[in-house]
Amino acid sequence: MINKITDFRLALLDWYRHNQRSLPWRTEPSLYRTVVSEFMLQQTQIKTALPYFERWMERFPDFTTLADADSEVVLKHWEGLGYYNRARNLHKVAQWMRDSEVVPDTVEAWKALPGIGDYTGAAIASIAQGVPAAVVDGNVVRVLARLTNEQTSFSNNGKAVDFFKDLANELLDQASPGDANQAMMEIGATVCTKGNPKCTLCPLQKFCRGFADGSVSELPKIQRAKREKVRLYRGLAVDQKKILLHKIDSEAKRLKGHFEIPSLECLKLTEDSKQVEAVSVRRRAISNQSIEEHLFRVDTEGLSIDGKGALNWIDFSEINSILLSGPHRRWLMEYLGISTNT
Ligand code: SF4
Repeated sequence: MINKITDFRLALLDWYRHNQRSLPWRTEPSLYRTVVSEFMLQQTQIKTALPYFERWMERFPDFTTLADADSEVVLKHWEGLGYYNRARNLHKVAQWMRDSEVVPDTVEAWKALPGIGDYTGAAIASIAQGVPAAVVDGNVVRVLARLTNEQTSFSNNGKAVDFFKDLANELLDQASPGDANQAMMEIGATVCTKGNPKCTLCPLQKFCRGFADGSVSELPKIQRAKREKVRLYRGLAVDQKKILLHKIDSEAKRLKGHFEIPSLECLKLTEDSKQVEAVSVRRRAISNQSIEEHLFRVDTEGLSIDGKGALNWIDFSEINSILLSGPHRRWLMEYLGISTNT
């Protein structure tokens, strides 16, 4: 437990008011902008989300514009951010806000809407409406574990979040819960970082037991889940300014309705077309999977694809207007040597 809670709150808020990053949802705050930013930041870092947020606000400046938009258009503006269910849920929340006569004003009321859990509900309610509810994410867990020199070993992040919720609520400044929550997250993101925490610059140093004990680098103790390794083989088949892409089923769990670079398996290569040439290997991580995608140039001779069904010949000029997963768009543009705006 941290003694001198009032001093702690004052030090945290004072630091935040002088050091907070200038972000568009802070400089021009509104309920809508808070909701959009919290959905975007659920699984995306601030620097990645920023350009998306600006473009989103130009196209969908308020709940009603977003609610009235076609879902394909909404997904297209989300393209590249990944985890598309966030966009679908944000769209549903906007429709709910357009059609409802009341605005949710408690964490529980926000949590009744699609895609909003403990964290997002507390963030929206505290930042936009001043509800005293603490938000606890990975950054906050790290700060609290170090401040309290907590030696418990947690089996996963969720357990650590649950463990620190009561303390976070106890420390939360009741008069400025939105700023206090953002301050804790900001300290975790910029000062009390995973590697090389800047303890000498930290406004919380005098309250920090981990610092006094010299155990900062070991905290928090959270067991890391092992990532499953997935290897995929994909074929780039190009014929006269058209490329063969696979449309993902509308019932699929992920990326429904999106195009992707087809797997070699789904190209059903015949003996004649078996000439494939390795182009590159791309690696990325999604949730608990570490994915390695091997890209091959595929000789189109002998490919017996009619361009109907799931496999479609897409003209280069159409690539910018179709839904494609972010990494696949990047790889395609690079391979075809075309820009994202032509
Ligand atoms: Fe984190 Fe160091 Fe500040 Fe403690 S003193 S809260 S470990 S940055």
